[in-house]
Amino acid sequence: SIEARDVAYHMHSYTNARAHQENGPVVIDRGEGAYVFDSTGKKYFEAMSGLWSAGLGFGEERLVKAASNQMAKLPYYHNFNSKSHGPAIDLAEKLISIAPVPMSKVFYTNSGSEANDTVMKLIWYRSNAMGTPEKKKIISRQRGYHGVTIASASLTGLPNNHRSFDLPIANVLHTGSPHHYRDAQDGETEEAFASRRAEELEQMILAEGPETIAAFIGEPVMGAGGVIVPPATYWEKIQAVLRKYDILLIADEVICGFGRTGQMFGSQTFGIEPDILVMSKQITSTYFPLSAFMMNERVFEPIADETNKIGVLGHGFTGGGHPVGAAIALETLAIIEERDLVARAQEMGAHMQSRLRGLSDHPLVGEVRGVGMIAAVELVLDKAAKTGGETPGALGVQANRRLEAKGVISRNMMDAMAFCPPLISAQADLDFMVDALAETLDEMQ
Ligand code: PLP
Repeated sequence: SIEARDVAYHMHSYTNARAHQENGPVVIDRGEGAYVFDSTGKKYFEAMSGLWSAGLGFGEERLVKAASNQMAKLPYYHNFNSKSHGPAIDLAEKLISIAPVPMSKVFYTNSGSEANDTVMKLIWYRSNAMGTPEKKKIISRQRGYHGVTIASASLTGLPNNHRSFDLPIANVLHTGSPHHYRDAQDGETEEAFASRRAEELEQMILAEGPETIAAFIGEPVMGAGGVIVPPATYWEKIQAVLRKYDILLIADEVICGFGRTGQMFGSQTFGIEPDILVMSKQITSTYFPLSAFMMNERVFEPIADETNKIGVLGHGFTGGGHPVGAAIALETLAIIEERDLVARAQEMGAHMQSRLRGLSDHPLVGEVRGVGMIAAVELVLDKAAKTGGETPGALGVQANRRLEAKGVISRNMMDAMAFCPPLISAQADLDFMVDALAETLDEMQ
């Protein structure tokens, strides 16, 4: 069977390889709108947009056409040695035009991890260019997710991305996450918690020496860490500290970008003014692997000087700015604008959030959180103690399995059930998803 061949030949990402040998895969065969179908024909509402990524769902013909037209015209070219091509130029211009703050240049990569890896390298390169070679440390956050390459996995602040990998590498520091529900002290308000996080950041900077800190990286809303929406004043307070010590701010918008939080960028939702903004996933609806980051003049200028001094920027990827990916991204952005999917994410998001919040009083629900079209429902056995079962994550795994049986694909981050449905989801799809979750919770009681 196809399932047996998967077990025989395919090693999976983010999977317990031994459990997979026992249980086998769910093989997804085809997509249609916000739904996918498995090899047995079973239909699922894809409440995670794949991996927080297929914003336009799984059957957008216009993206297929954009890809096939570009394939026929110029299936591949690169941007090394001053070569260029129309789709990469058009997309760079488009991204700069919709940037939440003035940006100068776009650099292309193939995955979120590669983008963050490249950002880290360019920040080091810039510090050397500026004659401040000691300014190399990058502050990330516990529970943050920035990818899995050696550098980006180091930035990631989740234990399973470090354990047995001998990570993190040097020059990466982790400060506390903005997770009020889990990390606040007893009785601490969101405002007081945000102030404490900013003070802790300042203490870390002072302890390390401000002259050694190059940048701070954060997701506007943390995704893989459990959909953590920061307190209202968190980003304002963090940015005040970064400005005081001349530290660059990197917004990792790999999940938040392109409408997810109800604005084009999460930076707009949270008043973030990044020096570097990282994008991937929804940029092509993930019909093609493409990532990119924008940088402002302050970042670009010293780097440009250094390339002139050395004679070349010794960095770049064969597939960076791939014409097919760039053509799909341009069409994705055109569709987002034509169908006003950012406003729709706000409207449908408000509906989804309010329906999910309707589950708050359920005995198994510790917290419902989210903004726009991204949310999490944190499951607990003891609401007061905020604790789950003996095995952390077991509640989430069980809920996931039950939801899947009901035709909803979700994802548990330990005991937090994440929901990140396609931006094109209809209200009835979202109701189906929330009803399935409500039934699941009742069954688990
Ligand atoms: N940054 C964020 C915020 C992400 O959510 C992810 C992936 O989930 C990444 C970076 C890494 O992207 P990729 O899996 O394309 O390497």
